[in-house]
Order: sequence, then C-alpha cells, then structure tokens
Amino acid sequence: MKNLERSECGSRPGPKRKSVRVARTRIGKGVFARRSYPASAMVGEITGKIVDDADYGSDYCFDIGDGLYLEPVPPFRFVNHCCEPNCEFDYHQYSDQPGEEPRKRVYLFALRDIKKGEELSIDYNWSTTYAIPCRCQAPSCRGWVVSQDSIDELVQQ
Ligand SMILES: [Zn+2]
Repeated sequence: MKNLERSECGSRPGPKRKSVRVARTRIGKGVFARRSYPASAMVGEITGKIVDDADYGSDYCFDIGDGLYLEPVPPFRFVNHCCEPNCEFDYHQYSDQPGEEPRKRVYLFALRDIKKGEELSIDYNWSTTYAIPCRCQAPSCRGWVVSQDSIDELVQQ
C-alpha cells in the first residue's frame, strides 16, 4: 500500500457535493470529474460496506489492509482502471464522534491536475490471479489489468 501520511488529511475531510458523475464509457460505466482538481486534492470519500474476510474478492472491492476490503457503492464503485491513472485511493482511521472507536475511511485523491469532464481512473494493481486484458489505451499500457510488480510474471506464463 502506498504512502499513508498525507499532510492535507490531518482532519477528517468534509463531504463534497456533486464532485463527480457516473456516465457510460466504451467499456461500461465510468466516473467523470464535475470540476477541476489540483494534484493531490481529495476528490471524495469512497463509501461502501467493509468486509472483514481476507479471502474476499470482487471486481470492485478495495484492499484496505489488515484483511479488510471495502465493497464500494456508486459513484466510486465505477472508477475504471488505467495503466496511467489520474487518481489513487488511500485510507485513514477516523472516529465518527470524539471518543468513538476510529474506523477506516477510504478516499480518492488526484495524482495530477484533473480537468473538468475528465474520466477518473486508478491503477487496480491486481495480482496475476485476477488479471484481465487491459483496454485503457494509455501509451504505457501494460496490456493487462495487473500490478506493475506482477506483469513480468504474467508475460512469462
Ligand atoms: Zn492499460
């Protein structure tokens, strides 16, 4: 998992209204920015059901560490993979109320400046077990929806 220390995340980010919209793409649904975002901005909270099962797996779930997965609800359920993504997800522990047990919350962050109307994408970083051919059309497309660390292993098979 990536760098979890983000200075802009010192306090729990507030809700963002209408930050994104879901629309059709050539490969199904996708998520599009309704406004521009500067690099490293928080685009929104990825909400959903947290599944406490290390063997869990789905096409949409986010691995949030400690054997936990987040099965997201829309809109962020529909963020597509790209080998040159413009976003990444990250998670932090926050309490809903002071004194309450903190729980994991997952957020989508811009990796670079994003223009209004751009499709948002992340690198799914799947293991070879889940690899499927990639159709992202990025110049550096790995050809498979699989993590950079696993691509050599996959190509040798
Ligand atoms: Zn690709």
